[in-house]
Amino acid sequence: MTKTNLLSDQVNDKPAGFLVFFGTFVDTPKLGELRIREKTSVGVFDGIIKFINTNSLDPIKDCLSYDTSLSPEDVTVVEVTEKDTTQIDGFYFPGFVDTHNHVSQYPNVGIFGNSTLLDWLEKYTFPIEAALANENLAKEVYNKVISKTLSHGTTTVAYYNTIDLESTKLLAQVSSLLGQRVFVGKVCMDANGPAYYIEDTKTSFESTVKAVKYIRETLSDSLVNPIVTPRFAPSCSRELMQQLSKLVGEEDLHVQTHLSENKKEIQWVQDLFPECANYTDVYDKYGLLTEKTILAHCVHLTEAEARVVKQRRCGISHCPISNSSLTSGECRVRWLLDQGINVGLGTDVSAGHSCSILATGRHAFTVSRHLAMKEADRVKLSVSECLFLATMGGAQVLRMDDTLGTFEVGKQFDAQLIKTDVPGSNVDMFSWQLQGTNQMQEQKRDVYKNPPLLTKEDIIAKWFFNGDDRNTIKVWVSGRLVHQT
Ligand SMILES: [Zn+2]
Repeated sequence: MTKTNLLSDQVNDKPAGFLVFFGTFVDTPKLGELRIREKTSVGVFDGIIKFINTNSLDPIKDCLSYDTSLSPEDVTVVEVTEKDTTQIDGFYFPGFVDTHNHVSQYPNVGIFGNSTLLDWLEKYTFPIEAALANENLAKEVYNKVISKTLSHGTTTVAYYNTIDLESTKLLAQVSSLLGQRVFVGKVCMDANGPAYYIEDTKTSFESTVKAVKYIRETLSDSLVNPIVTPRFAPSCSRELMQQLSKLVGEEDLHVQTHLSENKKEIQWVQDLFPECANYTDVYDKYGLLTEKTILAHCVHLTEAEARVVKQRRCGISHCPISNSSLTSGECRVRWLLDQGINVGLGTDVSAGHSCSILATGRHAFTVSRHLAMKEADRVKLSVSECLFLATMGGAQVLRMDDTLGTFEVGKQFDAQLIKTDVPGSNVDMFSWQLQGTNQMQEQKRDVYKNPPLLTKEDIIAKWFFNGDDRNTIKVWVSGRLVHQT
């Protein structure tokens, strides 16, 4: 038996043998449901969860009874120190899913001035994306972003790169090396771009085909997936969208694009595509709405557009930090969820100024409060609902909810280990708020007239509102340890 709390030798190596994770497991199997399973052992082999035993007495015994051919030497135990079962000192949480991240814009994070979408693109975004055709710069940025998102517990990301094919291949390589589960998109734009950052239709399509082929056949890493990426309707000709649509059907590919982010953008789309009933109809008419399409923003969708999104079974990436930063608007998430549309969270770096899905979830919570002040109380999103969007919601958007998003037998072990009590943590709790048995705590509780004890849900809420990468002490993708503090 190998028992370790560090596993330093496991970083960047494939996990060997049977792993069993032991401690408290928290996840959100349904919208609004926070499931907390304590004293639980989760057996993982080849990246996949093989068994889950709640009220486990001995994780090793659980493994041996799961597979009688195993001996204790074959099993590695990854254990969370639990001071007391009545308080959560550490817990496993599913890895976050970021459904919208422009990795190539990361050097601009925090820089947007007072711009709104269209001037932001011209002033800040196209220049930095064009600059990343330099592979040395690109490599530095990709390494930084992938390491950073992993350190914040994000195990799956849908990335937009740039229009450049070679740097798109590089992004796929770096993702593969660092072990993140990713969708890598070469941005397509053959219309309305600046002279220094635009492609012709043929090049745009052919380099997309080459990127898909490279990722699937040459790189051939099950964690790295291609995704067809028409930037947004104004950047794409009808011909290009039709060609991409054909490719998507033939190769069964995911698609990502932007929809209904900003009112000026919506008017521009109407002017450019007078034959279409609305913005959503542009993508529908040219064949880009499938059940594997991720539509970012959807801030100003009409009832008719939402019905089409629902009919085509597309997913929506809610990017609240970006929507607030560029004053795009407030996405009506409850309205979308009520219609049965899948919604996940997107950082939308760099219009979004944080790589963290936890920070994005907090902002989703706040934006829903702002909407509630104008609409009704029920549009507020709860902590557990925001955590659902951050994990299962994202998995649903990617159509990977049968393999990601919660801890279930048969799913991939994509997880983060959270601890609240770590040096420098911003999650402050006082000993007298926590259940305990030592005399000092009891005396303090007397002095303070028995202040209310924190529930487990309270502790998770404190992490949600105050936590950051300091609390994310280990991260696994498909059972492989890819980050530790
Ligand atoms: Zn975006």
